[in-house]
Amino acid sequence: MRLKTKIHLFSTLLMLVILALTNTGIYFVYEKLAFDTEYHQVKMQSEDLIASLSRMTGQNPATVLRAYIPPNGAVRVLDSTGKVKVESQSVEGIESYHPEIGPVEKYSIGEFNKTPVMTLNMPIIWIDGEVVQLQMIQQLIDVKHSLRLLMLILMGVTVIAMIPITVSSVTLGRIVIQPIDNLIKTMTQSRQTGTYEKIDVPAEGKDEMAQMGHEFNDMMGQLESNFKKQEQFVSNASHELKTPLTVIESYARLLSRRGFDDLSVAEEAVGAILSESIRMKDMIMQMLQLARNQEQVAFNFVETDVHALIEKTLRPMRQAYTRDFILEGNGPTVVVTDPDKLRQLLFILLDNARKYSEREIKTVVSETKAHISIAVTDYGNGIPEEALPQLFDRFYRVHEDRNRKTGGTGLGLAIAKELAEGLGAELKIESVVGMGTTFRIIIPKRQILTDF
Ligand code: ADP
Repeated sequence: MRLKTKIHLFSTLLMLVILALTNTGIYFVYEKLAFDTEYHQVKMQSEDLIASLSRMTGQNPATVLRAYIPPNGAVRVLDSTGKVKVESQSVEGIESYHPEIGPVEKYSIGEFNKTPVMTLNMPIIWIDGEVVQLQMIQQLIDVKHSLRLLMLILMGVTVIAMIPITVSSVTLGRIVIQPIDNLIKTMTQSRQTGTYEKIDVPAEGKDEMAQMGHEFNDMMGQLESNFKKQEQFVSNASHELKTPLTVIESYARLLSRRGFDDLSVAEEAVGAILSESIRMKDMIMQMLQLARNQEQVAFNFVETDVHALIEKTLRPMRQAYTRDFILEGNGPTVVVTDPDKLRQLLFILLDNARKYSEREIKTVVSETKAHISIAVTDYGNGIPEEALPQLFDRFYRVHEDRNRKTGGTGLGLAIAKELAEGLGAELKIESVVGMGTTFRIIIPKRQILTDF
């Protein structure tokens, strides 16, 4: 069954049940009220009769009873065995109606000739001193008519009410289903055409359906941009890997042709093959790291002394390269961060500083109320201003550096950016061509604490 039909059926059925329950309630409340009103009248009449009977002197009690017969009923006096002593009636055949002797001082309802009949029993002392029951019987013809009329009115109301109920349930079904229908159509179209289709959502719409539409469109947008990025990455990666592979291939061919005869050619070829292989290996490792970063590696935030962490990072660099790696200022400077990821980020920035400069490299930690800043400064080539916007793109290298033998891949800063994002930190660059570059990692104290 379609969702639209289900909503329609369910809401109609629900309204019908509510209406039926309300109408039944109204019917029974009215019936009770009507019976109570009749009861008070019959009761008053019985009390008058009892008073007259007690005042009676020498008359025939049947005469007195006759004066008090209800307009549509009977009045009887029953002895203790339930046998009729005296009876007067105003309805033909009612003498055959013998209700159960119900509770004293309260009425009971039975049926005679398809009409409800009210019976009232009251104990009295009869002229012979015996305790007898006075029984007043009253046919409720008016009540029967009123109840029938009420029933007709309520049924009419139910039938008339079904019109707006049906219309509203159909409209409700349509309101709920239309956006879902649109969604299904768009998703089918996207699947069939392999495109990232979006749905039309009123910009000012604020309800859940509009929200669902906006979320869907955002998700499609994100999927499309991820797909494009992935496509771009694959094409860039294959392009970047082609260069070292071509170099390796051409040197290997050279070697196979005549390399072993000429030692200098052989040395050059093996050297080039080795350095290109290392470059390729580095590139593949970095690509793997980027792919792993995309799988949302878990960050492990702990209280960390940034000062000590930088010192620990600089030590192996000083060992590996004959260069001055200076750390300014005294620690400890504590912040909540992931020390491993921050160290990885520092390595990238320090390694770049080393690659693109000849002099010492300075690291400065500073602290404000809200932030901790780590600045890595080199006094090298600097980065031209027009290169800054693309600097964090994958495989981007400043033009001149492409031709140098620095052995870069253009992936380092892309990884650095993702690491910084994961750490909740900001990466800033200040660079002057010919003077040098400063990369600044800004870690907000509070944001990291709340993330933590
Ligand atoms: P690479 O592996 O080429 O170093 P990166 O993504 O780390 O890749 O850097 C991208 C480019 O940014 C580099 O090729 C280089 O041109 C430029 N660059 C990065 N850091 C510096 C720096 N400290 N000084 C000058 N140029 C830099």
